Amino acid sequence: MSAGAGGGAGAGRLIVLSGPSGVGKDTVLRRLFELCPELRYSVSYTTRPPRPDEVDGVSYSFVAELTFEQMLARDEFLESADVYGSLYGTSLRRVREALARGEDIVLKIDVQGAAQVRARVPGAVLVFLLPPTDDELFRRLRERGTDAGEALERRLENATAELAEAANYDHRVVNDEVDRAAREILAIVADSRGANP
Ligand code: 5GP
Repeated sequence: MSAGAGGGAGAGRLIVLSGPSGVGKDTVLRRLFELCPELRYSVSYTTRPPRPDEVDGVSYSFVAELTFEQMLARDEFLESADVYGSLYGTSLRRVREALARGEDIVLKIDVQGAAQVRARVPGAVLVFLLPPTDDELFRRLRERGTDAGEALERRLENATAELAEAANYDHRVVNDEVDRAAREILAIVADSRGANP
């Protein structure tokens, strides 16, 4: 299924996906790229250290804080944010090059970054991934990892705050079933127009 994505004439589409931690963004994105291999993923820059399974340049471009600050000073980010004490940013050059080639590009970014993209790129498509119910998300967060006490409480508080942001997005997609949610996002992309940051 092409959903009309990728490779078209003119500007590609800029798709932003946000959602609370634990909602399943990575799983839905994996399915989305299987369904539509022409879609591009915007590899973000971050100052946080890589996790064991992460590959530099694929999961993220891992950089030192000084490097990030210098890139920020040179206006090299489409958006950037401090998320839980680490810096994250989307490369303006990578996004512009993809869009100029007519490719559709997906950004998996937090709510602060999404707000910057909304202000800067009128044609961007903002999608928020929701859990089937809030309780379902809280249950998943409780089961996830080995953190106890404060860390878990903070995760639940953060999730509640993130869920409150859903109203600011163009589209809300419920992750009740991965394949269904991915197809709904594809349909949203197919219905949208090009972007131009
Ligand atoms: P993680 O470190 O667990 O991969 O991601 C933590 C949070 O940072 C997630 O909400 C993720 O969407 C967000 N994030 C990842 N890359 C970027 C980025 O380039 N910009 C912004 N604003 N948030 C990002």
